[in-house]
Amino acid sequence: MKEIAGLAGGRQGPAQLRPLVETVLTALEEGAAARGGPVPAGGPKETARRVAGALGRPLPGHGTGAQEALHTLVRELARGAADPADPYCAAHLHCPPLALSAAAELAAASLNPSLDSWDQAPAATEIEARASAALAAVVYPDLPAPDALMTTGGTESNQLALLLARERAAGGPRVQVVCGANAHHSVQRAAWLLGLPRPVVVDTPSGVLDPADADAALDELPGRALLVATAGTTDTGAIDPLPQLAQVAAKHGAELHVDAAYGGPLLFSRHEAGKLDGLQSAVSVTVDLHKLGWQPVAAGLLAVPDGAALRPLGHQADYLNATDDTEAGLPDLLGRSLRTTRRPDVLKIAVTMRALGREGLGALVDAVCGHAHQLAAAVDRHPGLDLHGRPAISTVLFRPAGADDEQVAALRRELMYEGRAVLGRAAAGGRLWLKATLLNPHIRPQDLDALLRLVTDAQARQTQEAR
Ligand SMILES: *Cc1c(COP(=O)(O)O)cnc(C)c1O
Repeated sequence: MKEIAGLAGGRQGPAQLRPLVETVLTALEEGAAARGGPVPAGGPKETARRVAGALGRPLPGHGTGAQEALHTLVRELARGAADPADPYCAAHLHCPPLALSAAAELAAASLNPSLDSWDQAPAATEIEARASAALAAVVYPDLPAPDALMTTGGTESNQLALLLARERAAGGPRVQVVCGANAHHSVQRAAWLLGLPRPVVVDTPSGVLDPADADAALDELPGRALLVATAGTTDTGAIDPLPQLAQVAAKHGAELHVDAAYGGPLLFSRHEAGKLDGLQSAVSVTVDLHKLGWQPVAAGLLAVPDGAALRPLGHQADYLNATDDTEAGLPDLLGRSLRTTRRPDVLKIAVTMRALGREGLGALVDAVCGHAHQLAAAVDRHPGLDLHGRPAISTVLFRPAGADDEQVAALRRELMYEGRAVLGRAAAGGRLWLKATLLNPHIRPQDLDALLRLVTDAQARQTQEAR
């Protein structure tokens, strides 16, 4: 039993881990080879049947041992994965993580620092403080003391942004959130969770929030408002006109929050950063590094122009941040999240920042934006395909010419169930489109051509069957 239940940490931990990691890597290789494509063929029923067969009873009376359990489950996980490292897996803002970042996760898991108190995470506390400050400075380069919280993702970041806005307005009229119809659903859910009035949703027929429409919506509101803009919509990657929206907000004495969950990492690129001009006017900015940042989930951020803005999150619990401990110089971490026990998600991020530098991250951003332009150009040239529009970031919406929405939806499912490609779907301009969210920096031009061929071949089969 001691052998199976060896620990990951301590001086003996690495020796325990080494053969297990080797088993994991072998199982990953075997699983990927057995899958042979971006996603397992056969759809949900076939995957359920296969997993049930391979796993048997999840909690056996007598365990199977570490090697067997790891090999069986990891192999099955990989065999049945939708693997974003495959060039034909491009449905969602679901990135292929960097190997170095995944390797850093092993260290984080092994030592298990928890960022709710310094005595659980001495070095991790300091790494988080430094990496957060550096990332906040990317968002707010001209300010003296910006800060950023590590979150589980855009959803939590948007929740915290609305919570901070609510608290800034405490004692006065409740904050009214105003957002575009193109905003992420988490904005509405956050307002609901926080007991704020139902957000005013401004129609966005052009795909972005029109400053004149935002102006008109704010004109109607008597009290305090938080205007939420999106820098990189989930459906199309469109970026709201931030400088103009900042002006509109200022004119009305409203605050601006920017949800840059997708688009935020454009800041790393010299070529792309200009698309986010105006971001610095925001009272808070959501960024996800598990989208354009090539991190394993979770890697979210909420950046604020000054660390003092985070004060409403402060909280005291004697066992974690006793007042005398804080006065004696122990860092007080409880106010850096609404969570208590908290993973050191910062480690993989800090490793990535150091290994690639701003240039390296910018080059990855440039690569995926370049792929999107190549794919859009190829769609545009293709007589059998319609292009929705020029990509703003790395998302391309397209559809077979002449297909109706039902056929587009069926085509997407067919490609997925046959294990050929995983594309997303998005409604735009009153029609349904196939969505390619390109986040793999290493795909080649021929992969993009082949992806389009998969679509046109499936469309040809569909048309044939309909005859
Ligand atoms: C993905 C996304 C979110 C939600 O982020 P999670 O990391 O999934 O919680 C919020 N806003 C936008 C614009 C997004 O694309």
